[in-house]
Amino acid sequence: MKLYVMISDLYVAGENVTKLASMCKLKGGRLARQVTDSCLQFWGGMGYTNEVLVSRFFRDLRLMSIGAGADEVMLSVICKMMDILPMPPKKIK
Ligand SMILES: Cc1cc2nc3c(=O)[nH]c(=O)nc-3n(C[C@H](O)[C@H](O)[C@H](O)COP(=O)(O)OP(=O)(O)OC[C@H]3O[C@@H](n4cnc5c(N)ncnc54)[C@H](O)[C@@H]3O)c2cc1C
Repeated sequence: MKLYVMISDLYVAGENVTKLASMCKLKGGRLARQVTDSCLQFWGGMGYTNEVLVSRFFRDLRLMSIGAGADEVMLSVICKMMDILPMPPKKIK
């Protein structure tokens, strides 16, 4: 939560927060998947049904890693900002 506030402050101050925001979205999505998966596993068969909210969270929070740019897109944005995007090999003359 502190990180989100820090990024918002930087953004308001006029900084370019693309790299940090992409990192945050990537981490947030992965964490949400991990947490909801563990919760569903904990609930067992009951967690798989529509009778409990766990299955709803499992599906809904999955969107974090897809919507507004999938995790893979976040990774390429981060790589670009860090100037470590893999390049095709140079042609040998
Ligand atoms: C419930 C919901 C609400 C939405 N609301 C909105 C909205 O309000 N406004 C809006 O504009 N859009 C909205 N979207 C669209 C959403 O932003 C897109 O679904 C999202 O950007 C992913 O694009 P896509 O579905 O075309 O998947 P694709 O681009 O086809 O991606 C499919 C998969 O391919 C892989 N992939 C994609 N690109 C790359 C890449 N460059 N490198 C490596 N792998 C890659 C990833 O694994 C990705 O998960 C919504 C989607 C959903 C499901």
